[in-house]
Amino acid sequence: MEETSEAKKRPAGNMENYEKDGDQWRCRDCRALILATKVTHPIHAFELPGAGLGRCQYTIVPYCPNCETKPEFHGRPLEVPFVYLRPEMRPLPDYLLSEIQAPPG
Ligand SMILES: [Zn+2]
Repeated sequence: MEETSEAKKRPAGNMENYEKDGDQWRCRDCRALILATKVTHPIHAFELPGAGLGRCQYTIVPYCPNCETKPEFHGRPLEVPFVYLRPEMRPLPDYLLSEIQAPPG
């Protein structure tokens, strides 16, 4: 079987491309077991572009090793209102996390 070329690979993390098989997930297209990788998102404040105070949010992103490109470990920054950078504001509310957890599409 030919490997899908990088250019034709689809974005990782869309659950519609996977289906449940017992305890695991399989790719609907090639039947491969779905893998998962950790992606780190530096948390930045809207009000202070680039200022993150070193905090990160981690997400686990599923991907098909054949049809999709493995997501980069360094994900895009998550921008939140400055108030959420304060330690007592953890954990971040779901509506902020949905931006990095919900894959586009
Ligand atoms: Zn696949």
